[in-house]
Amino acid sequence: MRRRFHRAPPPSLPKLLWTMLRGHEQILVRPSPELPLVTITFPRGERTGAMELKAALSETWLTIPAELRARYTPVLGKMPPMVVVELRARNTCRCLGHFHPPGTESRVTRRLRAMSGVDACEMDLAFVSIKEWQPAPLAYNAAAAAAGTDRGEEFELFRLRLALLDVFLHELHHRASPEAAEAEVRGHSGEFYSAALGAFTQNHLGVSYGLAP
Ligand SMILES: [Zn+2]
Ligand SMILES: [Zn+2]
Repeated sequence: MRRRFHRAPPPSLPKLLWTMLRGHEQILVRPSPELPLVTITFPRGERTGAMELKAALSETWLTIPAELRARYTPVLGKMPPMVVVELRARNTCRCLGHFHPPGTESRVTRRLRAMSGVDACEMDLAFVSIKEWQPAPLAYNAAAAAAGTDRGEEFELFRLRLALLDVFLHELHHRASPEAAEAEVRGHSGEFYSAALGAFTQNHLGVSYGLAP
């Protein structure tokens, strides 16, 4: 994400050793059928991000109006049956995520492929960076004001899960259209984010601020 042909840099040696020693946990998410199966792999003990991503894929996705979800139908139609998401706090390059091109996948993905016999692709997502990400400040401010203090928590949770979904879909778009320019892929995910935020504000908070689809 964010820069074309940019790949995740390798972690520093101390970080790599710490990660190896601590180990990883995996959870399997079965979202609605139009999405692929998702295996989330994350450092042992750091479940928060994995649980939010799971909720984003299996719950938040279904609360987004069907006509907005349909914008990703062409991308989702080209997905393998399984996607592996390496969830981490941040990337050293500060990107929110990267699609891992064929041949660069981790051992987890290669092993899952070998064990299951089905194809899988891989990406990484930076949970803390995505949580802090502010892609549409105008829409955000309007929606936050509409939510007020009463429903602020509900709104913040939706916004976090939508951001996770948005970066996830963005990276899948790179898999579906490897030749597409970053600006095109980013334009598509940026519009999806704003439209979904607008729909939530209208449908759940009862306020329209003119950015809804
Ligand atoms: Zn991108
Ligand atoms: Zn990067």
